[in-house]
Amino acid sequence: MRLADLTVLLPHLAGVVVQRIERSAAGLRIWAQSRAGRAACGRCGRSAGRVHSRYERRLTDAALAGEPVEIRLRVRRFFCDTPLCPAHTFVEQIALPLVAWRLELEG
Ligand SMILES: [Zn+2]
Repeated sequence: MRLADLTVLLPHLAGVVVQRIERSAAGLRIWAQSRAGRAACGRCGRSAGRVHSRYERRLTDAALAGEPVEIRLRVRRFFCDTPLCPAHTFVEQIALPLVAWRLELEG
């Protein structure tokens, strides 16, 4: 399966870059991260590009052509460099329709 096909089959992946796909007896596992280099602070709305840290979110409970799919989404925490913004750091929001997904924090 090509990555381009995958974003057609899973349109909610269009905003992310797929880095790796593994297929096992348990199903498909997809590693992805946001396509954007920057993110907007949720408190002040200013764009930020300085990454504070990264972690992984695991999204499960979906299927592709009957095969279980697990998405490992790499999420970044950014520094907000706006003076006086109370946020200091914030986690980027990645627009994935989560209706069908159970969101689990990992680690
Ligand atoms: Zn801010």
